[in-house]
Amino acid sequence: MKTSPQSIHALLEAAAPLVDLAIEEDIGPGDATSLSTLPPHTDLTGRIIAKEPGIIAGLPVATAVFCKVDPSITVTPLVEEGQEVVTGDIIATVAGPGRSLLAAERIALNFLQRMSGIATQTNALVDAVDATRATILDTRKTLPGYRILDKYAVRMGGGTNHRMSLSDMMMIKDNHIDGSGGITRAVQQARTHYPDLPVEVEVRNFDELREALTCDPPLDRILLDNMTPDQMREAVMIADGRVPLEASGNITLARAAEVAATGVDYLSAGSLTHSVKALDLSMKIGSKAGNALSERIRRIRQIKAELGDRMVILGHHYQRDEIVNLADFRGDSLQLARKAIQTDAEYIVFCGVHFMAESAAVLAKAHQHVLIPDMSAGCYLADTATPQGVVAAWEALDAATGNADEAFTPITYVNSTAALKAFCGRHGGIVCTSGNADEVSRWALTQRPGIFFFPDQHLGRNTAHKMGIADSEMLVWDSFNPPGADAVRASKVIIWPGACKVHQRFLPEHVGAVRQRYPGIRVIVHPECPASVVDLADENGSTAYIIRRIDEAAPGTQWAVGTESRLVHRLQALHPEQKIITLADVPAFCGSMSRITLRKLAHLLEALARGEVLNEVTVDAETARWAKIALERMLEL
Ligand code: SF4
Repeated sequence: MKTSPQSIHALLEAAAPLVDLAIEEDIGPGDATSLSTLPPHTDLTGRIIAKEPGIIAGLPVATAVFCKVDPSITVTPLVEEGQEVVTGDIIATVAGPGRSLLAAERIALNFLQRMSGIATQTNALVDAVDATRATILDTRKTLPGYRILDKYAVRMGGGTNHRMSLSDMMMIKDNHIDGSGGITRAVQQARTHYPDLPVEVEVRNFDELREALTCDPPLDRILLDNMTPDQMREAVMIADGRVPLEASGNITLARAAEVAATGVDYLSAGSLTHSVKALDLSMKIGSKAGNALSERIRRIRQIKAELGDRMVILGHHYQRDEIVNLADFRGDSLQLARKAIQTDAEYIVFCGVHFMAESAAVLAKAHQHVLIPDMSAGCYLADTATPQGVVAAWEALDAATGNADEAFTPITYVNSTAALKAFCGRHGGIVCTSGNADEVSRWALTQRPGIFFFPDQHLGRNTAHKMGIADSEMLVWDSFNPPGADAVRASKVIIWPGACKVHQRFLPEHVGAVRQRYPGIRVIVHPECPASVVDLADENGSTAYIIRRIDEAAPGTQWAVGTESRLVHRLQALHPEQKIITLADVPAFCGSMSRITLRKLAHLLEALARGEVLNEVTVDAETARWAKIALERMLEL
């Protein structure tokens, strides 16, 4: 992610004395081994490599260590802060005097591994509660002296910081309550002495919760201390949205989803920073190793030249730069599939996610084979809707209306499996993209009175809003607690509850924050963002729309862009004459796209060069036939 200059400045300011201390304790008067074994003036290069998957945080601090040890060392980060990496990814290259590099290596890695470990653990919790409205918070249980570093790493993992210190927010806990004679009195005292500070109160039972809810003005937050999920659910009902609720106590990865599903607004987890498991990273030294990246690129280019027109490489806009730079075509999913089938290439190598390769396979000519560098590169959004789940919902709609095929036109967003596209084909339905969802929905309503839209709830709702359909006419499908027949019959749009975990990270407060910091900035977001964000934005549209708007804008235009970070960074590089920032200081990298690496692409192409076809994505003939019908209905509009 592109971190703001302010947050990097604060990070480096806090890290400077820690870096000095670490150098003093580890190197002291000198690295005896390197000084004795390496001849002076030996220059080395090296790579910092991920030995396990995770989220990277702390590259600016690691860079500060190398440069403090020897200002002539050059560090070149190859990933962004907050970016997901997989095993074998090169995170940065380093070059400079060998003795200095080896002396600084351990210290730099210690910072980077700890911070990346925090970001990785945070991201796992954020993922676990993704399907709920809950936000993951850290606590003050940080390593003494490392608070700013630890909390920065939490942000890089997609979490949100709780208070930084005792002075910036009041947290009235059991001891304060008991010592001051009750919640009401404690809150009054607190507000008298510090009227400008937000106030949070910890409650141990429902009596205390009810008392806390009577505070006037309302509290900023109430903390439910060590309650069971059942108790939290009841607390949520009692609070009824009047004050945000925070769950605390034993928030582990195993429990997070269950706790978040109770309806609380925040989960705070001390373990994020007090029980850190460092991310396994290493540094490989050697000028030969340092050239591996360029050697891989050279080899891919060579195989491309050898295969000529027999192969095309497709690079989705959300792919890594090094992949996109090697692609024959760059674009969004359907655009790429359509470009590929306009060629006669025998091999279509899709550097995107699995459903995209499936769409290409559905549309491909008989002699074309669609390959993907990593079969496990799925899509979080597409995976939220399984054929079984959608069929079960359809059967319930059928029972409620007497005949779902007369009541609802099924629309599947192109970000879905071929099986769901085929479902739409069979049931008179259609596929849509983020660029034509309103046109498709208008068509759908000429066919039947209602729409069943899947899998993206936000695109479904945003599209319905564009068509003037009110929230009261929409119903989000709940497979665990299906709505009654009356509710189904009263709904014009039934929406599947899926969401893209990249785009749903953008929040209304991010829009407010960028507008405050950059007056006059235009906010442009993808319609996979929540409606609360889309409604506040100046513009919303597909990836192609966002690119076009920025390409056509006048020099000096300011943009805050709410979509995947790699695309935003590319737009920044392409348009230095404009100010382009990501909408929020949160990681918005698509982890599924990150699974495609140069190493995996090279592996696939080496096999092709030997005449061996790996990772072919196929769709059975019957599914492909119906999926194609649904796609063609869209293309004919
Ligand atoms: S950005 Fe979202 S919708 Fe696109 S591939 Fe990634 S998870 Fe799926």
